[in-house]
Amino acid sequence: MSRRTIDLDDTVYDYLLAHSLREHPEQAALREATRTHPRARMQISPEQGQLMALLVKLIGARRCIEIGVFTGYSALSVALALPDDGRILACDVSDEYTSIGKPYWQRAGVAHKIDLRLAPAVETLDARLQAGEAGTYDFAFIDADKTGYDAYYERCLQLLRAGGLVAIDNVLWSGDVARPSEDEDTRALQALNDKLHRDGRIDLSMLPVGDGLTLARKR
Ligand code: CA
Repeated sequence: MSRRTIDLDDTVYDYLLAHSLREHPEQAALREATRTHPRARMQISPEQGQLMALLVKLIGARRCIEIGVFTGYSALSVALALPDDGRILACDVSDEYTSIGKPYWQRAGVAHKIDLRLAPAVETLDARLQAGEAGTYDFAFIDADKTGYDAYYERCLQLLRAGGLVAIDNVLWSGDVARPSEDEDTRALQALNDKLHRDGRIDLSMLPVGDGLTLARKR
């Protein structure tokens, strides 16, 4: 028995999925449809989708934000976990990618919960702040351009209620954040990880799930 997190080789990872994954058929179908996409690496892992769905239920979330939709697997996972009047403000700039997910949202019966906004996310979030919605959201998932993360984080923190949760994807960036780098995405993630470690506005956990997932609970 070790005090550190277990290494997941393929056999153990397959076991984990075989003994925990509970996908809706449309989640499995969307994951399969995205598997051969040239940018398939942008899709979250299924156990991460299931974790986020559990978190959404645990905090009783109704109003969610997603920044970076890609083909819509994470939005589908969260939407399935929300009550019927729950909503996701889903921010992305690609009609091409998000359109792949829409038929799956429809068939799963959750399309009415996903309010897709095709615009730079900072514009969408600033408009919500201008509209007086600070403190009215429960959950936010940030999974978009890494150099934009800090701006998204600050806006999500304002939009969340106390006790709300921000989940931030790719915080370990294939391990690159642990080594000196000149890459601007890596450096942006390093700076954000440093900042959150010291950030007194939140409770914090960095999980080795997927490519690294930070959970930050607004105090
Ligand atoms: Ca990601």
